Amino acid sequence: MNAHDDFLPLIVTSPSGAGKTTLVRRLLARFGDMAQSVSVTTRAPRMGEVDGHDYHFVTATDFSTMVARGAFAEWAEVHGHRYGTSLEKMEAARDRLRGMVFVIDTQGARQLKARVPDAVGVFVLPPSMEVLEGRLRGRGTDSDETIARRMHNARGELTHYGLFDYVVINDDLDTASDELCSIVTAERARRWRRAGAAERVIHGATVR
Ligand code: 5GP
Repeated sequence: MNAHDDFLPLIVTSPSGAGKTTLVRRLLARFGDMAQSVSVTTRAPRMGEVDGHDYHFVTATDFSTMVARGAFAEWAEVHGHRYGTSLEKMEAARDRLRGMVFVIDTQGARQLKARVPDAVGVFVLPPSMEVLEGRLRGRGTDSDETIARRMHNARGELTHYGLFDYVVINDDLDTASDELCSIVTAERARRWRRAGAAERVIHGATVR
């Protein structure tokens, strides 16, 4: 019997600036038995980013080789760079964790949902486009041109909210964070994720 038959693949998607990074950080602080998937990307590391921790940084050629070898559970081009989720790492996570968080874009979310039927998708919605733009400007890291491009992309991303099982509105961070944690709690209690536990109890074991 697989001890992690209640494994929860959790997709978290939002336009940049909607606050998904902070929400996922809080989620992982709450659920120590979940981890974030480290994506493979062709984009160059930003200041302070660590290879193998933030991303696995690879060359365009290496990425293409991985695509050809079928190494990705999903991959997509986002803002001119390619990003992908390693199939092997995703499968390995099932043996040692109770869940994995995939912070990916809507193209990747569509592919992962098709490939991993038990994946749960959460879309993080900014309360308004004005708030989103304000948050992007507040970072102070992007040029007007970059912000305009990100806002344009954000509008496109928002129209795909229908792909997801849940929508969390990130207006107040504490409220949004509670909502995201509640989704994980509820999803863990789904009948099919508890089937193994129920069978074990039926056969005389104790489950926690
Ligand atoms: P950044 O370059 O700012 O770290 O990430 C840009 C966007 O790429 C993120 O908002 C995220 O949605 C997307 N992304 C990161 N990793 C993956 C991945 O493995 N697959 C897909 N499809 N998108 C990703």
